[in-house]
Amino acid sequence: MTRIGVFDLFTVGIGPSSSHTVGPMRAARDFALAVSACRADRAITSLHVDVYGSLAATGQGHNTFGAILLGLEGNDPERIEPDYARRRVQEIEAGAAMRLAGTALNFTSRDLQLHPLLVRGAHANELRFRVSFDSGAGVDETYYSVGGGFIEKSGSPALPGSHAEEPFPFDSAAELLAHCTESGLSIAEIMLANEKSQRSTAEVRSGVLGLWTTMRECIDAGFRATGFLPGGLQVPRRAAGIVTGLRDSGQTSELEWATAAAMAVNEENAAGGRVVTAPTNGAAGIIPAVLFSALRANHGRGDDASAVIEFLLTATAIGTLYKKRASISGADLGCQGEVGSACSMAAAGYAALSGGTPEQIENAAEIGMEHNLGLTCDPVGGLVQIPCIERNGMGAVTAIHAARVALHGNGSHHVSLDAVIETMRITGADMDAKYRETSRGGLAVTVAQC
Ligand code: SF4
Repeated sequence: MTRIGVFDLFTVGIGPSSSHTVGPMRAARDFALAVSACRADRAITSLHVDVYGSLAATGQGHNTFGAILLGLEGNDPERIEPDYARRRVQEIEAGAAMRLAGTALNFTSRDLQLHPLLVRGAHANELRFRVSFDSGAGVDETYYSVGGGFIEKSGSPALPGSHAEEPFPFDSAAELLAHCTESGLSIAEIMLANEKSQRSTAEVRSGVLGLWTTMRECIDAGFRATGFLPGGLQVPRRAAGIVTGLRDSGQTSELEWATAAAMAVNEENAAGGRVVTAPTNGAAGIIPAVLFSALRANHGRGDDASAVIEFLLTATAIGTLYKKRASISGADLGCQGEVGSACSMAAAGYAALSGGTPEQIENAAEIGMEHNLGLTCDPVGGLVQIPCIERNGMGAVTAIHAARVALHGNGSHHVSLDAVIETMRITGADMDAKYRETSRGGLAVTVAQC
């Protein structure tokens, strides 16, 4: 049984995409570290980077190519400053040397070999890096960016989590609910017990609250920023105007504030700002927005820190099921994998903060996905802007409603969460590739780009 925890699913990165920006930067960095480790005093004579499938098809709009250059220089998406990232990519593209493992190379995004129609291996998001040394030896590694910033290296274990013994291991919602029934613990308490197999309670609390701080900073930055988003579509930022209107009118509706907060986060993401994958960048707005809105409405009953931890641990429990049993990647399963998964996770968190039982929380998560089944990924211009920004707003509203519907019942329902996740997996597998983050179908081809 593979372990996925809260700090695997929620990580700090930069926009606009976890699979197309954060994952490629991590892969390139991992490769750079491998080159450093085996280079010794040999000189690097050549570097080849092949970019396949969805990464090549929409890489321009997702800043994939700049992320690869930054990763090759050893940068980490969790720590790199967004302003530095933008400036450094511009410098390299303008002719400054790119430094790989201490060697200055003339290598820009124009040297990347793009294969947008080619899916060779286990996943549509593939990268192959090759370096040759003057000795004739070299390093040759292939990576897959599988969604949410997770990367897999060809020939290595699939997931980053350790296999340490957890007190409550689960791979299905049925197993999770059985643990709750037998132990009398809530879903969040089950997750906390599992997290404590890796780190102390204090470390879990401070780490989760740190994630929330980054989420809040992202919402606030989006509420302040105005102007147009980068990329050429001339998409205006709207969250700041919406929030000004809400404040001026004294509007307190949870749904209105959740919509504004989700759009704020995704505008920041589209601008290459600092975001938390939740569980991906494209869907990064829904979970922070629903939590923000719930805290505003005092669903945390006055103890915001405990509410944040309960919400995010509950959402994590649900998110691990999507990661293990299906996928959270738009290139795998369309937008149901990104916005659908985030909506389901947020619905579970909201139901938990509202006092829901484990069965009601499972029901909320199921409703949150059921009405996103079949949702395609068709970003206009390959940019994570249209439909992504508004879609996060809609996803946040659906999550709150899903939880409210579930809380009207007693947790008993027809479609189990496990069944809806399996339906989502099969639906995504049946989906034509043009609806899976290639920008070759849907809005991406019917909307004029001028
Ligand atoms: S349409 Fe959905 S899956 Fe595709 S890039 Fe936008 S948010 Fe991500």
